[in-house]
Amino acid sequence: MKARGSYLTDIERRVFIDATSGGYTANVGHSHPRIAAAIRSQISKMWGPHPRPQEVHLALAERLKQIAPGRLSAGLVGFCNSGSASIEFSMQTVRAYSGRPFFIAFTGAFHGTSAAALSLTTVSSRMRKNLPPHVSNVVFAPYPKSLASVSTHNSDDGGLDSLDQLRMILSTTVDPRQVAAIYTEPIQVHGGVIVPPDEYFKKLARLCHEYEILLVDDEAITGFGRTGKMFASEHWGVTPDVMCLAKPLAAGLPLGAVLGRKHIMRCYPGGGTFSGSAIAFACAITNIDIICQEHLVVNADRVGTYFMNRLRELSGKHERIEEVRGRGLLIGVQFRRHHGKPAAKLARKVARGCFRRGLLLSTTGINEDVLRITPPLTFTTALVDRSIDVIDDSMRHS
Ligand code: PMP
Repeated sequence: MKARGSYLTDIERRVFIDATSGGYTANVGHSHPRIAAAIRSQISKMWGPHPRPQEVHLALAERLKQIAPGRLSAGLVGFCNSGSASIEFSMQTVRAYSGRPFFIAFTGAFHGTSAAALSLTTVSSRMRKNLPPHVSNVVFAPYPKSLASVSTHNSDDGGLDSLDQLRMILSTTVDPRQVAAIYTEPIQVHGGVIVPPDEYFKKLARLCHEYEILLVDDEAITGFGRTGKMFASEHWGVTPDVMCLAKPLAAGLPLGAVLGRKHIMRCYPGGGTFSGSAIAFACAITNIDIICQEHLVVNADRVGTYFMNRLRELSGKHERIEEVRGRGLLIGVQFRRHHGKPAAKLARKVARGCFRRGLLLSTTGINEDVLRITPPLTFTTALVDRSIDVIDDSMRHS
């Protein structure tokens, strides 16, 4: 298997357009030559995790703070090795800081697969079946609905309904002064690419402020330009107290980070031998440089808008497409229910058809009835046109 830019070549030399970005890790495209050079250069100096702090470790912390939203630019950064580990790290930190035992998370959320991160994850009860969540004191609130589910249920949500229910939970189920933090994805990705209504996050942040509850923003997928902003929370002008970063952070090498306000981060009680390696730190610095210098955030916004418009044109042709939604190059295509049932089978068929025609994408959603499209941020409109032809053809034969 070989990977370069937006393409993968398998062992039979079949070439695929990778609209999954290698599991959302390759925002700058696969095997970017500057990332390869960063690896070679760092390897000649040092590659292990210790001793710390090293120059490259401090340099990455500074670089992350430079691109961080609002007051987080004066924050502190801690490193680990994955998205799940960044969630665990933040859970320990916010509890230690606040002295409060409870967490609130949203239904349909995905925060990871390790024991504590799984305790906040409710995208699928199947995932929780064999490993009962290990962290107690987690309460779940409903995430605002997508337009498609609003129209299906014929209700007018606008996010207010979900905030009302959160307030109800705080008055009936858990005392707000017992809640350390609310965990949220700015766009629920595995939940079905659910984009909350515009005012939702501002109101959620206000609610957190009212009760001195910390807001933790999981940007494992949405960070580093994916949605047409460096971090997705910037779409709504909200700066969280703590941000969890992973997947594309080091362009495919394992690395996670937690960036939070200083006084909160100082309470982190842990540590770990392999909390990032010098090579991953060097890759992450170069990765951020590429995203900024190649204007990939703007490209994600521009090409993402073009992709969504072309998909919306397709929905005029294929009535089983209910909604196209997303931000930047994080796109979901929701299929319409059939005889009252979610269209998971159709979504799977279309994805398989795309695979046979040389386009890699995946399905997602709590009902697995959404096509998920997340190509590298270097994607071009010509590649969008080719992808649209493939999706169109696959839908006609599904
Ligand atoms: N948070 C989010 C939003 C995720 O999508 C994921 C992984 N899909 C994680 C956390 C966990 O990341 P990792 O797989 O690196 O542990």
